[in-house]
Amino acid sequence: MTSTVQSAPSHRLDPARVEQLTEYAVLSPRAEVMATFCPLDGSELAQVPCSTTDDVDVAYRGARAAFRTWSRLPATSRARVLRRFHDLVLERQVEMLDLIQLETGKTRAHAFGEVVDTALTALYYARLAPKALRPQRRHGLVPLLTDVIEVRRPVGVVGIVAPWNFPLAMAVSESLPALMAGNAVVLRPDPQTSLTTLFVAELLQQAGLPQRVLQVVLGGPEVGEAVLDRADYVCFTGSSATGAKVAERAGRRLAGASLELGGKNAMYVAADADVDAAARGALDACFVSAGQTCISIERLYLHDAIAEDFLARFVPAVEGMRLGVDLTYGAEMGSLAGQRQLDRVTDHVEDARAKGARVLAGGRPRPDIGPFVYAPTVLDEVTDDMLLARQETFGPVVAVRRVGSDAEFVREANDSTYGLSASIWSRDLVRARGIAHLVEAGTVNINDGFAVGWTAKDAPMGGMKISGQGRRHGVGGLLRFTEPQTIATARGVALAMPPSEESSRWTTAILRARSFLTP
Ligand code: NAD
Repeated sequence: MTSTVQSAPSHRLDPARVEQLTEYAVLSPRAEVMATFCPLDGSELAQVPCSTTDDVDVAYRGARAAFRTWSRLPATSRARVLRRFHDLVLERQVEMLDLIQLETGKTRAHAFGEVVDTALTALYYARLAPKALRPQRRHGLVPLLTDVIEVRRPVGVVGIVAPWNFPLAMAVSESLPALMAGNAVVLRPDPQTSLTTLFVAELLQQAGLPQRVLQVVLGGPEVGEAVLDRADYVCFTGSSATGAKVAERAGRRLAGASLELGGKNAMYVAADADVDAAARGALDACFVSAGQTCISIERLYLHDAIAEDFLARFVPAVEGMRLGVDLTYGAEMGSLAGQRQLDRVTDHVEDARAKGARVLAGGRPRPDIGPFVYAPTVLDEVTDDMLLARQETFGPVVAVRRVGSDAEFVREANDSTYGLSASIWSRDLVRARGIAHLVEAGTVNINDGFAVGWTAKDAPMGGMKISGQGRRHGVGGLLRFTEPQTIATARGVALAMPPSEESSRWTTAILRARSFLTP
């Protein structure tokens, strides 16, 4: 049986603190107000105002004005702001952890994952950007007679729409490199998790970010759409269905876009895997933030040779997970974010059960722990006609499948419209890397569920197929927020076609210059 750490008392944020935080949003004086609730106990959390489309216009005007000064600062000055922000996030982590938990329902440990992720992102881009944004010398056609440099210009104002599942990490991991590259940002967090984002805005200002460089607007999909429609570069994180609509609207304006979308991530435990380590790894990979993580595992492929041994360890461990909804460390899994998620998880599990799936663990809500808690669930005998076989559940549910070979795993894993993340467990690293090269996923983690790839801030992260477009993290995660510009100078002799009497010497010289084309 699962055990409870402790039930939480009713949570309501101090209205004075909420008012202080909403000062960091662009709002009309008579903004409409919406009640948000706390998933930990279902009680009202705060009254949060909403921005209008006019407010979005105001936000863009402010951001465009602030961009002029911010973009001209040396990258090292912008990096100093990110370094101070990194320090502040860690110093103020207790309030940050409380807010994340209160708005999302996740455990304190999972909230800490967001805090540390944000600090790492800030530090990484503060260190990387001054060098990565420097002008680069490029080869011209004729050495000495030509001088070619590539410069990186910020795109202008980046519009960001962030989801509710990682209110700190998702909103910030897009904003920080955009700001670092010299852009201003208009950011719309999900309405359920506005306060965490406003706290980030407060910390960024305390860290020295000039006013209006980051403009936060609050509200639902209409406000999100208004933000993206005005952006010089569109940054969206959410479901693949919404991502397709966002891409279409950006495409009509020929605006650049990166999209971080859904996943149906597969994990493979090969015949030679360390089964004990794999079972522990799967526990984390399947149930992090109650499975509401784009890179969490929903498909578990077990080689026939180890399947029973693996399940004998994994299933009791799942059943013994400590569930909890309080504001201290201790629980291993927390609540879903709300009724919509609970309904979706319940529908997927009931549909699978009705069509013959066998429930090995969980398979039911846990209202005794919290109104939106669902037991971590393992399903066997899942068939293709079940909703959860192909659709993303985005909850604490994993489907077990057995395979007879590595090749069969690769076929099954790739038989999905998604391609975000995957995990392979084997003692033979050459074999595991060989399999990784065949899997259609933006990140493949070996002997780890997802953290080894996610925490590698220097490596690109994002999805193949309908899981996304473009990548966050790494140098590409910074440079996508810039326009490359080539500045090519002819020194003394122009390369243009000379008068006709000299054209034969000219054509010979141009053909000779071919050898200098590449570095
Ligand atoms: P969703 O697409 O319904 O909504 C995401 C956000 O977009 C919400 O805040 C919503 O208000 C806003 N939105 C909706 N329609 C919009 C529009 N037309 N224009 C602008 N904004 C709009 O997704 P969801 O179910 O709320 O979030 C969970 C999904 O997000 C999952 O599919 C998950 O995998 C995905 N996700 C992906 C990543 C990643 O990095 N790949 C990270 C987190 C979440």
